[in-house]
Amino acid sequence: AAKDQGRNRFNYFTPSMQEYAKYRMRLIHDLRQAVLNKEFELHYQPIVTMATGEVLKAEALLRWFHPERGSVSPAEFIPVAEDTGLIVEIGNWVFEQAARQSAQWRKTLGVEIQISVNKSPIQFRDEGALLHNWLELLQQLDVTGAGVCVEITEGLLLDASMGVTEKLLAYRDAGVQVSLDDFGTGYSSLAYLKKFDIDYLKIDQSFTRNIDTDENDHTLCEAIIVMAHKLGMKVIAEGVETEAQRQVLLRAGCDYGQGYLFSKPVSASEFASKYLLT
Ligand code: C2E
Ligand code: MG
Ligand code: MG
Ligand code: MG
Repeated sequence: AAKDQGRNRFNYFTPSMQEYAKYRMRLIHDLRQAVLNKEFELHYQPIVTMATGEVLKAEALLRWFHPERGSVSPAEFIPVAEDTGLIVEIGNWVFEQAARQSAQWRKTLGVEIQISVNKSPIQFRDEGALLHNWLELLQQLDVTGAGVCVEITEGLLLDASMGVTEKLLAYRDAGVQVSLDDFGTGYSSLAYLKKFDIDYLKIDQSFTRNIDTDENDHTLCEAIIVMAHKLGMKVIAEGVETEAQRQVLLRAGCDYGQGYLFSKPVSASEFASKYLLT
């Protein structure tokens, strides 16, 4: 009977599902190769101080240059990297690269740029020993005084099983700041904001997109900013694309903005020549 069931189950596999399974297996294979062959690069997107236009922060965004397909979007490969656990090794590389970049810009150009790295919940779960290595690396590189920031998402804060509190405290002790990414899209339990000592709230693009035309989005952003400030957090608006959006955010007291209005994510050398060599 088990065999019959197995055969029947195979029948549920439609051609498009088979295509998808094949595509996915290929992606997993290629991603493993990518890790071995170092096909990754970090791009940097400026996080602009709203009031002055200064750039003192950047978000590191992972880019994969596939030998045949060219650039592959993180939206496509990060979920697969998470499912397969490859994200741990990739994330390790991202963190180290970002820390080294921050240290290098400080040494060679004399500027202190805080670089944010994204971390998925999976990375937190498995990083016990790595965390120690990273904090040691920061010391070695002398990346103190908040040269690095970690971006986490709301889902992580709901999972008590990963020792999140302890890990975030360890980061804090090492001078690493913490951002809550994509705020408003997850299970925004406000209680967590108090519990976890977060430095920055990043308002998701879905709220900033219509901030200049939609009264409700405007009100929500204003309320988030007031609340964040009262809780001692700074606010970064994601996906700022127009001058009208920037104006509204500035008037609402938003601290930082990030988006195509200012710049797309660019390579390290382009970032340096655009923002650091002036
Ligand atoms: P995220 O952390 O929310 O990053 C912001 C995304 O919005 C980036 O997409 C960025 O290029 C894009 N963006 C910035 N400004 C604008 C704008 O004005 N308009 C629009 N339409 N988009 C804008 P990207 O680079 O494709 O990354 C997508 C997601 O992949 C990231 O979302 C993050 O969740 C994940 N990701 C990227 N790099 C890493 C990484 O190193 N590790 C992990 N775990 N996740 C990463
Ligand atoms: Mg992010
Ligand atoms: Mg984000
Ligand atoms: Mg986002």
